[in-house]
This record gives sequence, structure tokens and C-alpha cells, in this order.
Amino acid sequence: MNESKDFLRTIVEKDLKSGKYREIVTRFPPEPNGFPHIGHAKSICINFGIARDYDGHCNLRMDDTNPTKEDTKYVEALKDAVEWLGFDYGDSVYFTSNYFHQIHEYAVKLIKMGKAYVDSLDEEEIREYRGSVTQAGKRSKYAERSIEENLELFEKMKNGEFKEGEHVLRAKIDMSAANMKMRDPLLYRIRHAHHFRTGDEWCIYPMYDFAHCLSDYIEGVSHSICTLEFENNRDIYDWVLDTLELEPPRPYQHEFARLGINYTVMSKRKLLELIDAKVVSGWDDPRLPTIAGYKRRGYTPQSILNFCDQIGIAKANSMVDVAQLEFCIRDDLNKKVPRVMCVLDPIKVTIENYDGFEEINASYYPLDVPKEGSRKLPFSKEIYIEKDDFMENPPKGYFRLTPEQPVRLKHAYIIACKDVIKDTNGNIVEIKAKYYPESKSGSDNSGIKVKSAIQWVSASKAKTAEIRLYDRLFLVDNPEGIEDINHNSLRVIKNALIEPAVINEKIDERFQFERQGYFYADPIDYTDKVPVFNKIVDLKGSWAKKKQTNRHETRTKKEHVEGEITPMSESEQILFEKYIKEFNLNNEISNTLARDEKLSNFFDEAISTYNSPSNIANIVTNEVARELKQSSKLKFSPKQIAQLVSMIDEGTISNKISKQVFEEMQKSGENPKQIVEDKGLVQISDPSKIMPIIDDIISSNPDNVAKYKAGNNKLFGFFVGQVLKKTGGKANPKVVNELITEKLKHI
Ligand code: ATP
Ligand code: MG
Repeated sequence: MNESKDFLRTIVEKDLKSGKYREIVTRFPPEPNGFPHIGHAKSICINFGIARDYDGHCNLRMDDTNPTKEDTKYVEALKDAVEWLGFDYGDSVYFTSNYFHQIHEYAVKLIKMGKAYVDSLDEEEIREYRGSVTQAGKRSKYAERSIEENLELFEKMKNGEFKEGEHVLRAKIDMSAANMKMRDPLLYRIRHAHHFRTGDEWCIYPMYDFAHCLSDYIEGVSHSICTLEFENNRDIYDWVLDTLELEPPRPYQHEFARLGINYTVMSKRKLLELIDAKVVSGWDDPRLPTIAGYKRRGYTPQSILNFCDQIGIAKANSMVDVAQLEFCIRDDLNKKVPRVMCVLDPIKVTIENYDGFEEINASYYPLDVPKEGSRKLPFSKEIYIEKDDFMENPPKGYFRLTPEQPVRLKHAYIIACKDVIKDTNGNIVEIKAKYYPESKSGSDNSGIKVKSAIQWVSASKAKTAEIRLYDRLFLVDNPEGIEDINHNSLRVIKNALIEPAVINEKIDERFQFERQGYFYADPIDYTDKVPVFNKIVDLKGSWAKKKQTNRHETRTKKEHVEGEITPMSESEQILFEKYIKEFNLNNEISNTLARDEKLSNFFDEAISTYNSPSNIANIVTNEVARELKQSSKLKFSPKQIAQLVSMIDEGTISNKISKQVFEEMQKSGENPKQIVEDKGLVQISDPSKIMPIIDDIISSNPDNVAKYKAGNNKLFGFFVGQVLKKTGGKANPKVVNELITEKLKHI
């Protein structure tokens, strides 16, 4: 339990002390319309965590009142997530649909009390009559219907005698209430839809505001904990339970802040869009913030629990840095998992003075990890090392193998480069080396000083493995959706070489690959023939770095072989602060720029020709950085990037199209202005060009229009998406949004 109590636990303790409840009962109430994400994990931790801390219980309840979106596979995913996080939902899952009969009876009771009526205004009128924040609403003339008439109409609604939208059941509260939600809220609506559990039994379905409080009451919930956006619904919650004069005790609603994480989209609707568009492989794609995604990627339940604990429970919404989550998994694995060697981009090294073969005993764990276990590392004349662990013309501060500088092979000997073999194009294909027989790790008498130790594998004994490297799924820290996708977020290496014990001994599913990061044997695709590993997270992270620099540690910079974090040098620190203070860039980006001289120079030059710091920094730290990793010489200049950004800022091209332009710049080095002109990529903002497309989409999707009109606001995104698709991403999303809003209002 948290040492300092959060506000929810304070309430719970007070209620226990005063005797308001005998038992603490909470519930986690997802709608089964998608896989749960890390935001749900927060809610699970709060609801199940509080129940556990106070010897109560927590119900897992499917809030299944919307028949069109829901599915059993989502129910299974939700059960899975709760279990995986280590919580117990008891013998069964609860469903709001189990209470449809009771909820219906409560509705009848309200009608009999004169507190609910059947309204026959259409949706548009209902909205109009509701008034506005500054203006009181007006009650519908149908509110005057007699109790008998209401009962009869409601019965007919239930029996399927009306069309969708013809009538609704409303609470009779107050059309001039300051809280607009209290202006006669809807309790029931007609939906002629098949429900995944109740089938065709019902054609009226209770609204969230009516079903939720009653389900809580029926289950004996004491504390109904939800996110802040339901704050205004609390009055209805109370009204329904109080008006029905239910036998106490009754539940009360308490709100906490939703979790948001940068570089991530969280809502199930947006996640579903990514899946439908096939930018990811499914709900469990390791790049998604779903529980299934984290599980597949290799996150441990403990790391997610630690994260939820760290972020705490607050009443104000805020954005959490994704680096904090990465810190949690790293921190959890650091002292737990075996450390092994894998070479991702191999280059052959022939040790000319070594003949024969030996097996070196090497512990799986470093000394500070209280775990035992070791494996045999085959060592031979021919080995592979990482291509970039050798440099012929190294810059200052390069501590690995060079023609002049020896290096230690981790757990084994020190080697020195004797000769470099190149192909006809000048590419290095092999390194000839010698080893120092006296230098064996653990019994080194060679007296040779090296500055680092690198990973390696025996050429004849290594196994081939497929490695999947993940980068952020989104390019911007506050992504909207598909238009902000990072198309290079997955890199697959088919021919990585891994030491044989990893495959043969299977001491664990998660490993630290020395100097590479943490990896997880993919639970689905892994076979002994083709072992597949997902990269969970890097060894180093910026979030912990930030914490460290805050402590003003002054250590000299040295190459870190283990999973340590390098503090910034003084000059990097100065740059870092400049980026934050002068340019208002965020921590993450400032950190990336400050630590990379090439990037910071590039940024400085770009910004000197066009002043748009955050947009330029975004491109520089993402696209440009990625390109620099792959090739030492860029085809485009800082000035051209500045030009690209200015075209986005001015609205000449959309964000989405800018990615396309950038790809072209990478290839041809052509000016972005020219590319946009040649390819006709100018953003379309002219309503008279966009309107016909909207009309077309609206007339060819009558079903979706009807659903939208019936209250499914989520379909708005569908229409916008369609227009963007039809224009190849060239339509100005803002204009499209406005036009569609207008259009749908008048249908
Ligand atoms: P989404 O918009 O992702 O679909 P939702 O709020 O509609 O989310 P539900 O399945 O209805 O999702 O929510 C189940 C529970 O999880 C609710 O109590 C909700 O408040 C909580 N929850 C959902 N998203 C978050 C989040 N980002 N942070 C904290 N709690 C969340
Ligand atoms: Mg929802």
C-alpha cells in the first residue's frame, strides 16, 4: 500500500470508521468494446487495489448497454488483463445486462412516481430544448403525459412497437438546472439491435446514467470510482438512487484523473482505427499501449503495477512521460533477468593466434544480482562482433575496437585488431585480430588496459534469431491518430546471432542482451527453429537521466557497458537548459538534442533560417535522427527541413503529407517546395473542393449517418477519416472537421 494515503483511500477509511459501510465494495466497469489499455490498468489498480487493502472485494463488471459495439472477445481480454495484473475478480464476471429486468422495473417505478416520462421529440428538438450553459432549457410538451399514458407507451417501446428515435424515456428533473446533465436526462432509448448476451430479448436499452448507478446499487458497491469526465454525471447518479428511495446503504461516486501518456493514443476508438487500418498487427501488437500489447512485448505485470503506483492518484488530469513507464520495466528487469550476448549486425573477426576451442563458464547474472546460474560460452577462432563496435577512423571518445585500441570480449579475452579486410566497394567485411592468452576474464595477468567490453558470439556455435525492434508508434508527443504514425516503428532483424545457451537452456523468457537492451521471447511466434525476440526496452532511458541530472551529479563521462545511465557533460547540460528555457522544448526532445552533437548542430542551423522551434525539433529528433543512424551523409540540409516545416506551419501541406515529402527528400535531396509542386501535394483547404467529397461520403454511408444521428458521436471520426482517405491525406483536417460538423447538423 502507498505510504501516504491518496484521497480515495482517505475517503474509504473515513467511511469505514463512521460505519457507513460494513464492507468496501468497488467495481471496475469497462465497456467491452475494445481491449483494455494502460489507462484501464490504472483504474484496475485503483479499484482492485482499494478493495484488497481494506479486505473488501471488487467486481469486474462489463458495462454492456450499447449492443452495437460489444463483443465476447473483449470480455475475455478484460478478464485476462485483470488476472495478468495479479488481481482476483472472484468466481464470476458481472454484466450490466444481467440487470436489465431490474433496471426496467426501476424505470417503471419512476414513471409511477411521476418522475419519468416518455418524450417524443426528435433528437434535434431534444438538443434544442435543452438550452445552453447561459440559457435555461424548455420542457417538452410530452412531459405532461399522464402516468398511465407513460406506462403504456413505455410498454410499447419495450415490445418493439416503435422505430429507433421515435420515443425516449426521460427523467423529470429540472430543465433549468445549472448542471445541464440534469435537464431531464435520457434513461432509455430504442435500439433494434442484437445484443451479444441478451440477443433479441430487448429493443430498449438503459443509458449509462441510469444503468450505472443502479448496477452499483444492485451489486452492493460502496465506492463507485470513475474518471473526471463523469463529474457532472454525479448529480444524476445521486438523483436516481435518492429518488427511488432505495434501502441504504447506497453507493457514492468519486472521481479521479484519467491517465494520459505522451507519444500514445489511449482511447479504444483510436486504437481500433489503427487496427482496422492495419498499421499495427492487432490488439496485442507490441507497440500498442494495450495490456495485451505490453504483455506480448515482454513487460512484466510488476512493472505496470509499479508504474501505476508511481503516478499516484490525483484529481487533476495530467500527461505522464512514456519514459517513466519505460523506466519501470527497466527497473524491474534490471535485477531479475539473465544477461546474455546477441549480435544484431554481425561482422566476422578471425583471431589468428587462437586455435582450438574452449567453453568459458560465465554467470548469467552480474555480482550485484542475488541470483545464481551460469552457462558455457563457446569460444573459437572465428567469432562475430557488432559492426559498430569497430571503427577504423574513430572519433575522440570512442572506446571500442580500433586499429590502435584493443577491447575486451565480455567474459573472455582481450583482442587487438591486426588487419581490416574490405570488399571492392571499400566496405569492411572481416577483421583479423589477435588475442592475449593471459587476459582471460577473471584471471587477467596481461596488464593491458581496455576501455570497454563488447559482446560477441562464436561463429560456428551461435544460433540465428529474429529480433524485432520497436520504436515509438507516433512521431509527435500528442498524437491525434493515424496521421501522426511513425512508419518506421518496427524493424525486423532476421539474422541476428545469439549465444546457443539462450536457445538450448531457456533459463528465462526475458533477457538482457548485453549492451542492447531487454528482450522477450515472443510468446506466439517463437520456435526453436526460428527464435523470435521482442525488444522490450533500451538499457538507458531519458526519464531516469533527467532525475539524475537533477541531482547535479558530476561524474566524468565514460563508456558504460552495463545498463547504467550516462550523466550529461557540462556542455550538454548547458545546451539542454537552453533548449528548455529558450526554445520551450520538452524534456525528452531537449535531452535527445543536447546529447547528440550532430542533431543539435542540425537543429541550430535549421532554426536560424526559420523560427519554429518545437516543430523543427520534432522532425530533427525523429526523422532526421533516424536517417542519421542509417547513413552518415544526409541528402537534405537543415535549410530544407526548415522549409518543410514552414510549409506545414503555413498550411501549404498537411502534417501527414509532410511525411511523404520527407521521404522524397531522403531519396532525391530535392527542395520540399519543388517536391510539393511536382507531385501536386498542396493541402486542400478550399471548401468548394472538399464539400462534394463530403456529400459523396454522406450519401454513400446512410447507415453511419443514421447511427451518428442516433447519438453515436464516435462516427464523426469515421467521416473525417474517409475524407482524408479520399484526398490522399491532402484535405486540411481542420476545414474538413468544420464542414462535416456543419453538414451533419443539417441532415
Ligand atoms: P476509452 O475512451 O479508452 O474507450 P473509456 O473510459 O470509454 O475509455 P471504459 O471501458 O468505459 O473506457 O472504462 C472502464 C473504466 O476504466 C472506467 O472506470 C474508466 O473511467 C477507466 N478508464 C478508462 N480510461 C482511463 C484512463 N485513461 N485513465 C484512467 N482510467 C481510465
Ligand atoms: Mg468508452
